[in-house]
Amino acid sequence: MSLPIPELAPAQHPLERLPEEWAEVLGGWGEPRYRGLQVFQWIHQRGVLDPDAMTNLPKTLRARLREEGLGLPLTVSHLHPSNDGTRKLLVRMLDGSEVETVLIPQLEKVDPDADGDSDESDEQGTATAAWVPGTVVTQCISSQVGCAMGCVFCASGVMGLKRHMTAAEIVSQVLLGRSLTTEREHLRNIVLMGMGEPLHNYDNVARALVLLTHPEGLALGKRRVTLSTSGLVPQIDRLAQDFDGQVQLAISLHAVTDERRSSIMPINRKHSLDDLMACLKRYPLPKRRRITIEYTLIRGVNDDLRDADALVKLLRGVPAKVNLIPMNPIADSALAAPREDGVTAFRERLFERGLSAFVRKTRGDDIAAACGQLAYHGDDGRRRRLPVA
Ligand code: SAH
Ligand code: SF4
Repeated sequence: MSLPIPELAPAQHPLERLPEEWAEVLGGWGEPRYRGLQVFQWIHQRGVLDPDAMTNLPKTLRARLREEGLGLPLTVSHLHPSNDGTRKLLVRMLDGSEVETVLIPQLEKVDPDADGDSDESDEQGTATAAWVPGTVVTQCISSQVGCAMGCVFCASGVMGLKRHMTAAEIVSQVLLGRSLTTEREHLRNIVLMGMGEPLHNYDNVARALVLLTHPEGLALGKRRVTLSTSGLVPQIDRLAQDFDGQVQLAISLHAVTDERRSSIMPINRKHSLDDLMACLKRYPLPKRRRITIEYTLIRGVNDDLRDADALVKLLRGVPAKVNLIPMNPIADSALAAPREDGVTAFRERLFERGLSAFVRKTRGDDIAAACGQLAYHGDDGRRRRLPVA
């Protein structure tokens, strides 16, 4: 049996099995191997987890699958819809731990003149375009309960690592998310920007990525999967090798000197900026693709225009685009959001120096950026404020 990635750790849960692994298991039950692909397709392509609904399988096999237990290892404990179509889900796993996942419909521009009867116009009487939730949906998912990286501006970091999520739990967020999309929506993009540091949970995340992008399963495009990391250099190299550079990489940079970065992101003491930049330069990016550099602006810490200049210098030779994220204040931290005009000035400075930079606003994409913080509960067990409206 050959696995797509040579060192993929063995499947621990039925929902983690690839077609060839199902074939092996079914073979052991005395079933023909080709049924392995059928079972896999029912689960991952069609989202059917009830063996009785798997109509092309013989009754005996359906009964055996019922015994095996194909239920999702998580349930929705809270659903928080927003006006803009975004749905934040708090999901509870079997041990009671909770993480957050967010469904984010991409906004589409609507021309108000298209139907000729729009009453939306600005002061000059010209029609203004409206943005409405479209059909393409991005889901932000979590990879760990809490996080061990200890970044001082991040609620997951303050919480510390409770445990890794299994590949089944990671994938189940997407099976669940897809089942909650409407008929006109298509779940097309996944961002690993929820709770946790995905590369600290490499084996489970790698298996989840193989499952999510399997052509006989959910069949998400590898380039439509974005993995955000605080910069675990050896694991970035491993990801590059295992997925041929196809997985879209986002790097949480947030500071331009080792001293400053180490003070807000302890991982920098292990993997310095030089090491990280060298690693990014060797990442086998497909043509015309760029690495996303996430830069959370924190007032008085990294939002000076000299930081913008240093950022341009640091990223020389790295095919990069910058996402500026105004910090969402978190409980138990004195760190603050930057001033609004400071954000604009920072972005313009990068632009002037030839670096494309975008500011994530408080919806859509930026919820992805912040969704790692949403499931944070205080020590008193009460839910803290949601940083995203
Ligand atoms: N652990 C991964 C992915 C999850 S965090 C990583 O660090 O990349 C997703 C993004 O949200 C990261 O860029 C992270 O730095 C950012 N983030 C964390 N806390 C934030 C806060 N309080 N305000 C704004 N962005 C934050
Ligand atoms: Fe972990 Fe990312 Fe938060 Fe840092 S920013 S503590 S790596 S989740």
